[in-house]
Amino acid sequence: MRSISVLGATGSIGESAFDLLMRAGGPSAFRTVALSGAANVARLAEMARALRAEVAVTALPEKLDDLRAALAGSGIEAAAGADAIVEAAARPADWTLSAIIGAAGLPPGLEVLRRAGTLALANKESLVAAGRLVMGLAADKGATILPVDSEHSAIFQSLNGDNLDSVEYVTITASGGAFRDWPPEKLASATVAEASCHPNWAMGQRITIDSASMFNKALEVIETHEFFGLGADRIKVLVHPQSIIHAMVSHTDGGCIAHLGAPDMRHAIGYALNWPARADLPVARLDLAALGSLTFTAPDETRWPALRLAREVIQAGGAAGAVFNAAKEQALDDFIAGRIGFMDMAPAVERTLDAAAREAGFAESPADLETVLVWDAVARRLAACKAGAA
Ligand code: NDP
Ligand code: MG
Repeated sequence: MRSISVLGATGSIGESAFDLLMRAGGPSAFRTVALSGAANVARLAEMARALRAEVAVTALPEKLDDLRAALAGSGIEAAAGADAIVEAAARPADWTLSAIIGAAGLPPGLEVLRRAGTLALANKESLVAAGRLVMGLAADKGATILPVDSEHSAIFQSLNGDNLDSVEYVTITASGGAFRDWPPEKLASATVAEASCHPNWAMGQRITIDSASMFNKALEVIETHEFFGLGADRIKVLVHPQSIIHAMVSHTDGGCIAHLGAPDMRHAIGYALNWPARADLPVARLDLAALGSLTFTAPDETRWPALRLAREVIQAGGAAGAVFNAAKEQALDDFIAGRIGFMDMAPAVERTLDAAAREAGFAESPADLETVLVWDAVARRLAACKAGAA
């Protein structure tokens, strides 16, 4: 029987994965090794019981007693803390989904690669912060990384095993998020509640706000660069409000292969779960006649400066991705906490990138986890003193 682990099981991606696993037969189809979550230990315990997991881990040590209580009598081990998630990731499993949010997903993801496992990667932040480390470790260990982000799954599927020699460029699409049609002068006063409503996709709050600011697409441009090894000049972004085409691969002979599908993450998760086979998935089928038209526009970079920053990060190379990711996480925290406005996030990230470049240069791409964490800390310190100075 195939063994699986799901890290970040209680989140939006984790719930979609749980739905697929239960529909596929749950514990009679899979042996579940580890599930992890953070604050929501009641749901984590419920999932662990349903899948008969070996171990359930919360990232938060103060939640361990609650988790133990929720698992009482089940025979499922309970553990807590970031190290315990890494330890759970180290347990052999045939397939591990990394659906933790933010840079916290990097250490357990690396652990899966270290044991030459198959890593279904939703956690784009680990590629942004440490792309060379992640891809290098996978190559060294012969581990497999399957992209779960919908655009990257779409590129992967469109390439269908082809190499990139004949690829002129790839295009990833963006819905435009909550504020696509807002007049620019209104954006400065956008609230957290307004930014947290996505027109097409049901996702976690942080990525939904990142969609409104296009920081999500900026992360995805860098993710495309790191995962597929394409330069910034070969990665394009198009605003496509219907979210039906997720990515397109344009070849040098003028042909373009596009990937279409309903905006439902269960497609990309299920594709990675069943790869290299395809299985029936509970995803709505497209009715293009009913849709009538698919539309596209070039993104307005005055409205969405994050896209320019992504290109600059790729061009800077070295540790710029680690700084960008941490600065973005900090700016998002500051927006959610009401310390800065919606349109202050991109300038805050840019100031942190400039300060880090001045203070330390971006040097080499981090070769180990410790170096990534140092850069992460440098970025957060610089972001905090810039905010203090503002
Ligand atoms: P959510 O915020 O919905 O879920 C995050 C998960 O991580 C939860 O299980 C949460 O636990 C857990 N978690 C939170 N903080 C920590 C921490 N410090 N250490 C360990 N675990 C933690 O996120 P999403 O599901 O939206 O996104 C997950 C990842 O997938 C992100 O990298 C995102 O960019 C990517 N992604 C998401 C898409 C989507 O549709 N949502 C689409 C494409 C990519 P708890 O909830 O119990 O606190
Ligand atoms: Mg995406």
